[in-house]
Amino acid sequence: MRLKSLQGTWLGHDVSFDFDSSTRTWYGLAGASLKTHPGSYPLALNAESISGKTLSFERKIHVGHAKYPSIAINVPKRYTEPDPAQVEKIKQDQALKESLFPKSGPEREWSGRFLPPVDAPISDQFGTERKLNGVIQSTHQGLDYRVPAGTPIAALNRGTVLLARPLFFEGNCVVVDHGQGLLSLYLHLSEITVKEGDQVTGGKQIGLSGATGRATGAHLHVAVRWQGVYLSTLFALRLP
Ligand SMILES: [Zn+2]
Repeated sequence: MRLKSLQGTWLGHDVSFDFDSSTRTWYGLAGASLKTHPGSYPLALNAESISGKTLSFERKIHVGHAKYPSIAINVPKRYTEPDPAQVEKIKQDQALKESLFPKSGPEREWSGRFLPPVDAPISDQFGTERKLNGVIQSTHQGLDYRVPAGTPIAALNRGTVLLARPLFFEGNCVVVDHGQGLLSLYLHLSEITVKEGDQVTGGKQIGLSGATGRATGAHLHVAVRWQGVYLSTLFALRLP
């Protein structure tokens, strides 16, 4: 049966599907957070056929167990014991992110492959459990590339610049909205070379790497967030 539209629900998220006419396949993007327990979860699908018939079906998708490394790192004390003014700035940053991030609309802006932001070795993977200065436990929600300060950093895919400004922990930060709740985040930049509202394509420079914010040294932290859930950046880069 030929379908006119296909929509899904997965772990409480809406999943949009697009039809690729060359492979005659419907494609959708969805992920599970690091806090999801291993097990089988239903992907509920609702479709409408060309003739106007509605169909519903369900498929169980298995979320497997994964193990992540633990490391200890040291950062300047203000990042683990902020003073009252810094606590206020952290709160403002949080409110800004909470107001901007849900603005990603239902339209898909990304297309084709996700490109690496820089050609450099990876220095820390997604999911690492970190103990900061021996006091704060934090999960690494992105991918780190070892790059010297001043290296050009490129957008992973097409989108609109949602945020481009300095934040307390993130340092100079750029967030690109790829639509359908999919964001890519670029942290610790020495310089931002785009403005909020700019359109970018995959491979377009968004800034220069640096060590601003809570960083142990110059590197690029790049994260992928889907409807409020951080996903493995490498997973996005490996999508066909
Ligand atoms: Zn990082």
